[in-house]
Amino acid sequence: MNGTVAAISTPPGRGGVAIIRISGADAFSVAEKVFSPANKAAFAKRSQARAYYGSFRDRDGVFDDGLCVVFNSPRSFTGEDVAELHCHGGVLCARKLLSAALAAGAEAAGPGEFTKRAFINGKLTLTQAEAIGNIIDAKSERSLGVAAKQAGGSLSRGIAATAEELTRLAASVYAFIDYPDEDMTDVGVPEMRARLCEIHEKLKKLAESHRYGKAISEGIETVIIGKPNVGKSSVLNLLCGEDRAIVTDIAGTTRDVVTETVRVGDYVLRLSDTAGIRESADAVEKLGVERSIKAVGRAEMVLAVFDGSRQPDEGDERIISAINAAGLADRTVCVMNKRDLAAPAFKPPFALCAEVSALNGEGAKEIEKQISLLVGAGSVGENDEIVLNARQYAAIERARAAVEGAINALSGYTQDVAGMDIERALEALYEADGRRVGEEIVAEIFSHFCVGK
Ligand code: GDP
Repeated sequence: MNGTVAAISTPPGRGGVAIIRISGADAFSVAEKVFSPANKAAFAKRSQARAYYGSFRDRDGVFDDGLCVVFNSPRSFTGEDVAELHCHGGVLCARKLLSAALAAGAEAAGPGEFTKRAFINGKLTLTQAEAIGNIIDAKSERSLGVAAKQAGGSLSRGIAATAEELTRLAASVYAFIDYPDEDMTDVGVPEMRARLCEIHEKLKKLAESHRYGKAISEGIETVIIGKPNVGKSSVLNLLCGEDRAIVTDIAGTTRDVVTETVRVGDYVLRLSDTAGIRESADAVEKLGVERSIKAVGRAEMVLAVFDGSRQPDEGDERIISAINAAGLADRTVCVMNKRDLAAPAFKPPFALCAEVSALNGEGAKEIEKQISLLVGAGSVGENDEIVLNARQYAAIERARAAVEGAINALSGYTQDVAGMDIERALEALYEADGRRVGEEIVAEIFSHFCVGK
């Protein structure tokens, strides 16, 4: 059985209020040891979701006053008894109250412990729990909107509906295989196929949404490449500019690799190896474009910068060939820079192209538009489900491939294989939704949460 756990659920630092959350069978007895209600009789009733005023104390006596909010099992976030202690926000005060709760018998909660308990107690599906993680991590309005919707269970419900349909189809397929001559099933092979094709379309669309989902949440691995002096660092500044929030600025762990995460509209770009770009033109000259050409191989998106006011030379051609050789032509946004000097002097070498003047700070919107095209934003409707997370994507993609297998099996002479394929698809969908995932995966998912969540 799980013990009773406690943690500070608000961020560290000074603030008006800090919240210590206690969850588990002994939550209220722990709370009573550190909280003295002003109205004992009222507190004894422990009315659901009621806040009681009182004082907080530890071994040395009373040190603060505040509220205790009561949630009775199962009507709490975790499904267990939960006491939330609201004390004054101050690093010391919150820590003192947590220490008092730990001394009173609670254990310190691990990362994501509360959400994990909610999952284990059936209050949340794994997709909902992951959506909560995405809400906390959201870097753009769009990803926050998507995550909030999924925390309400929309993606889980969609997956569950598809799984139900597949279960019914599996029954028909097996009935048909076992009794091919008898009229055991009212669904014929052509109809089974048609239904499977519909499911396949749905799963394909869902899987494809991950490209966009990743772009608005975790971010797209991006490399900026171009000859010296075409304006790479100016373009980088254009993207990181004043109105474009830098989300993080992490000096990389590898010697001279710097990754910057920037937000361009709704999209998050993880710009790798910007060290060379930030250096002087001389240094870049020395390093040549070799290094960035290497980096291109790992990119999900390439921003290829050209000086659009001049004819391309040998250096530009090498970059174009490298991108083509890496098979990244359709993942490249061609940035025709220096638009202020002249209209582009040559035809952009890639289909997606933005004309910008990084010097004048013009064109970030253009780049954003091209990124939209690249990540398929156009095919994602306002109300469509979007897969934000790589784990879910992998499982949904596996389900899609299995359904494709079932369609092929039904079309050929291997109808018995179709049933097995459908079962594999079901397994993958249950995994996507977290109904059938191993302990390790659950532990891994919650380890990314912060303590107190
Ligand atoms: P990098 O070597 O590719 O990183 O290029 P820089 O960003 O350092 O720019 C090289 C030179 O081109 C600098 O003198 C910039 O001021 C200039 N430059 C960059 N972008 C533009 C632009 O859009 N228009 C004009 N006229 N000059 C630019």
